[in-house]
Order: sequence, then C-alpha cells, then structure tokens
Amino acid sequence: MSAGNDRGKQPFLEILHEKCIGCGACVAVCEPISLQHEGLDLKFEAETCISCVECFRVCPTAAVVPTRGRYYKDLE
Ligand code: SF4
Ligand code: SF4
Repeated sequence: MSAGNDRGKQPFLEILHEKCIGCGACVAVCEPISLQHEGLDLKFEAETCISCVECFRVCPTAAVVPTRGRYYKDLE
C-alpha cells in the first residue's frame, strides 16, 4: 500500500465479524447511524462515520478496531 495520499481514504474502523456477538451496543451509540444490523450481520458505512470512537468504547468484545491507527503503525 502506498503512503501519503491514501491516508484520507482509509476507513476509520474495521469490524472483526468473528468477534462480534451481535449485542447492538455500537449501533445504539452511533449517532450518524454508520453502524447497522442487517439480520445478524453488522454493516459499516464509512462515508458517514464521524470518528467519534464511541463504538470502540462500548463494544464488549473489542470487535470494532481502529483501522487508521493500524495503518499509521504500518507506515513506521
Ligand atoms: S466511530 Fe462513531 S460515528 Fe464512526 S461508526 Fe463508531 S460510533 Fe459511529
Ligand atoms: S458492540 Fe461489538 S459485539 Fe456488540 S454488535 Fe457492536 S461490534 Fe458486535
């Protein structure tokens, strides 16, 4: 992956579906409704996410992880 201009295009978070227990806590706190359940599947809409980190804070299984943080780390 190239550095620089690609940074702004990184989604803020990644959902680790194998860790998600479908509790809905992240959906409940996401004000712009960037997280939604479709049946048992959790969908993330990167375009509307305001990077408030509330979903990280409430997830009991750490199934929501910051993609950007990992991306920056990869550049070091
Ligand atoms: S960081 Fe905030 S806006 Fe983005 S998905 Fe999580 S709760 Fe929603
Ligand atoms: S808070 Fe975590 S475990 Fe609960 S639905 Fe969201 S991602 Fe899944």
